[in-house]
Amino acid sequence: MADTFDIIVIGAGPGGYEAAIRAAQLGFKTACIDDWSRKDGKPAPGGTCTNVGCIPSKALLQSSENFEEAGHAFAEHGISVSGVTMDIAKMMARKAKVVAQNNDGILYLFKKNKITFFHGLASFAGKEGDGWKVVVSGTASAELVGKHVIVATGSKPRPLPGVAVDNVRVLDNDGALSIGTVPRKLGVVGAGVIGLEMGSVWRRLGAEVTMLEALPSLLPSVDTTIAKEAQKLFTKQGLVIHTGIKISDVKVGKSDVTVSYADAEGKAQSETYDHLIVSIGRIPFTGGLKGDAVGLGMDERGFIEVDDDCRTNLPNVWAIGDVVRGPMLAHKAEEEGVAVAERLAGHLPHVDFNTVPWVIYTSPEIAWVGQTEQQLKAAGVDFRAGQFPFTANGRARAMGDTRGLVKILADRKTDRILGVHMIGPMVSELIAEGVVAMEFGAASEDLARISHAHPTLSEAVKEAALAVDGRTLNL
Ligand SMILES: Cc1cc2nc3c(=O)[nH]c(=O)nc-3n(C[C@H](O)[C@H](O)[C@H](O)COP(=O)(O)OP(=O)(O)OC[C@H]3O[C@@H](n4cnc5c(N)ncnc54)[C@H](O)[C@@H]3O)c2cc1C
Repeated sequence: MADTFDIIVIGAGPGGYEAAIRAAQLGFKTACIDDWSRKDGKPAPGGTCTNVGCIPSKALLQSSENFEEAGHAFAEHGISVSGVTMDIAKMMARKAKVVAQNNDGILYLFKKNKITFFHGLASFAGKEGDGWKVVVSGTASAELVGKHVIVATGSKPRPLPGVAVDNVRVLDNDGALSIGTVPRKLGVVGAGVIGLEMGSVWRRLGAEVTMLEALPSLLPSVDTTIAKEAQKLFTKQGLVIHTGIKISDVKVGKSDVTVSYADAEGKAQSETYDHLIVSIGRIPFTGGLKGDAVGLGMDERGFIEVDDDCRTNLPNVWAIGDVVRGPMLAHKAEEEGVAVAERLAGHLPHVDFNTVPWVIYTSPEIAWVGQTEQQLKAAGVDFRAGQFPFTANGRARAMGDTRGLVKILADRKTDRILGVHMIGPMVSELIAEGVVAMEFGAASEDLARISHAHPTLSEAVKEAALAVDGRTLNL
């Protein structure tokens, strides 16, 4: 006899596990199925984000930043340390521990919320009465029937045509997070968020890192002021960035990888690396789901087609997160998951992509929300811009990190904030103020009038808001 549930969630990434928790909180009998395993075969809920994405990358970014600070930044504070070394195996063991803590945290939350968790692969197996039949195979095997199904199967790395990832020489994000020794030379194809973060980790640890980017400029979707500042700062750090390149051949040797490409001027170039990271984006993942067997609608790029509320073409089947349109971000997946659960409980939730923040965890960090200056110009919106550099911020000076700036864009007539853009210390945290302001439809004057603690980095946000009206106080 099949187990019956109100809601079956397929995938326990940030989208799926938060959908399951919210569904259970709302009183639904909920199951969640996920096939990710740890090395010892135990379940590893948390998806890409927890296992090979957000969490392990931030663990390594923190370790490598600490190493770089100890070697280069401590002296300025009068702290002398000599013989700073990095134990890569220990750094990786710490990363694994952080990941496991998160896996365990999710298993605890499942128990706490009385969610039935199945460790295995879920496939659609048709209808049974009003419900959907879902078969679980793998570590657990079961037959379930759910009134509603939420598909949250996530994404996988986009392959570079003709180049096989072996995670020895040619690495995807999983391999890039697990290199055993610091490479002497590291190539990174794709200077997007993931490529820049991975490149940063290994550069800080001593690798000579070259980024190979097909697009004509670095970070084209980032506000141009911020992208230009980023290019300047990253280049100063020693990251070699080639934009406008076209790869013609990748040869994988026993101990190296040679990439042949045409540079921006069309001149043939060739470079050999110890490893090559391929980070050219991600594609939706629906393998094993057997969605075609039940007629689940997909678009030509492989995304499950959904409406604004994450409804698929099948009755009572919903899809959220990386497997559907929209930004491939953990918090976007989470918001969609919670929204679907609440919709099933009769609430009227809404996810606004325009106020979903973006963060790139380089050093300095980059963060933004809303529209960029180039988007506003293209749309013919009349706006005012204000910016404030961290060089004029007392806390940044005290910290010894004055790189970057905050920029605020506001409608010229109404003063409503249209975009907040930052590069600088801890801007991954500062951006929340911009998100709150935009969610509440704030004007730049609102931010300018709010008291910000002194001395804090957040004063740069207030000053940028003052700058919109041409009245900064500290510049
Ligand atoms: C290196 C890297 C760094 C990143 N850093 C960030 C960051 O800092 N911030 C951020 O917001 N985003 C970041 N991301 C993106 C983020 O990881 C994704 O947007 C997020 O994980 C998407 O969540 P999801 O729930 O849609 O899917 P996933 O996290 O991909 O989870 C899907 C889960 O479903 C399981 N699954 C798939 N099919 C089945 C099936 N048929 N049966 C059972 N289980 C199945 C998968 O095994 C997986 O566990 C990063 C990504 C990478 C690769």
